[in-house]
Amino acid sequence: MIVIKFGGTSVGDAERVANAIDIVAERRHLHPIIVVSALSGVTNDLVAAADAACAGDGQRVNDIVDRVRQRHEDVAMHLVQQKFDFFDAFVKRLSKQIEEIHTILQGVTLLREVTKRGHDKIVSIGEKLSSVLFAYSMMMRELPSEHVESEDVIWTNDHFGGATPRMDLTTEAARKTLLPIVERNHIPVMGGFIGRTAGGATTTLGRNGSDYSAAIVAAAVGADEVQIWTDVDGLLTCDPRFVPSARVIDHLSHEEAAELASFGAKLHPRTLEPAIEAGIPVRILNTQNPASPGTLITREGTARATGPRSVARKRNVTVVHMTSNKMLGAHGFLARLFHEFEELKISVDLIATSEVSVSVTVDERHDMEQLQERLRGVADVEIIDGQCIIAIVGRNLLADALVGARVFEALRGVPMQMLSLGRSGLNLSIVVNDADSDNAIQRIHHALFEQAVAV
Ligand code: ASP
Ligand code: MG
Repeated sequence: MIVIKFGGTSVGDAERVANAIDIVAERRHLHPIIVVSALSGVTNDLVAAADAACAGDGQRVNDIVDRVRQRHEDVAMHLVQQKFDFFDAFVKRLSKQIEEIHTILQGVTLLREVTKRGHDKIVSIGEKLSSVLFAYSMMMRELPSEHVESEDVIWTNDHFGGATPRMDLTTEAARKTLLPIVERNHIPVMGGFIGRTAGGATTTLGRNGSDYSAAIVAAAVGADEVQIWTDVDGLLTCDPRFVPSARVIDHLSHEEAAELASFGAKLHPRTLEPAIEAGIPVRILNTQNPASPGTLITREGTARATGPRSVARKRNVTVVHMTSNKMLGAHGFLARLFHEFEELKISVDLIATSEVSVSVTVDERHDMEQLQERLRGVADVEIIDGQCIIAIVGRNLLADALVGARVFEALRGVPMQMLSLGRSGLNLSIVVNDADSDNAIQRIHHALFEQAVAV
């Protein structure tokens, strides 16, 4: 049994839905359970509709609801072949759902406010519509499928807008609702992103939460694999937009994937945790290129113990150098410095220290003047904007000095601001001027992944 999750772009229009259905049909023997995101852009539209309603803009609400309705109907219209009865049933159901959302939004328009709970009810409609659409589309193509309400499967706490699953209740509910359908040799289809509280209120798992849903469901039913179908070939050795020779990484550990995610990989491995923790492998695959093997993510990763896997960057970074003689031999000094960061709610990424100085990186958007003010008297502060972190992610990067040697050789002539590598050797981070970063990352990628001798 496998869980197949389709992201919003993979069900964005009729052609893509048809494509996704082909993918399911080819995997029917694996007893798939399908989890779908909202059609691309629909969740954003619903957020905009809720905002418009709060602003009392009924006309805009109507426009958005009409557009959402039309998109779903168009997809079904394009897919319908002989099975018009399923098409008619779908349009009926769509009308009912749209009517409900419209009524809720009209209420909000009158009140000009929405609770977090109400907001979840509104934005969850995207997955409700897409999952019903997908289930009916499969039936129109003669694949026996059954729609399942996500609220009957995933039970959560009541943190609306970012709920956490209650795995004990979810396990029981998921087995009860999904397994009989699988046993009938039918294909269950449910929306991602949505759950329910014990009291029956609709919750959402946070933006991009459909991956999370897939992982939760897989853990609950004890699936053999989770397949995340998206619009890229998997996780890559570098961003192909500026390193065309970037290639797909075949196998990564959960830790490595998590490290990459913090550098802007589209995937958020935190959301894969329920599956990974349960020992269920996760595969990232491309709907537009189904033949490509994708990237496999498992708890332990590949048997190969060491070496770089990918090089990524994070732009718009500010370096804060703090220097003070008071630091020499003192205790509690770092705590004092970081207390100020905490007070200002500034999150620190990298840290490097010497006897009398501490350097950190922070996101550029923070108010640095305030920080400087607060640190006056504690340390001399130098702030350098326009920096970029380049991260070489892999395993045990310290085990072989060759990795470092290649990286530094590649960076010959490029000034560096900071350097950091933790004990786990998961992430060798180098801070360079943003203006140098294209060049730097291309050279590092070349040195680590393109040279004849593999590291
Ligand atoms: N539709 C939701 C969102 O856009 C969840 C998802 O796509 O995973 O955030
Ligand atoms: Mg999405």
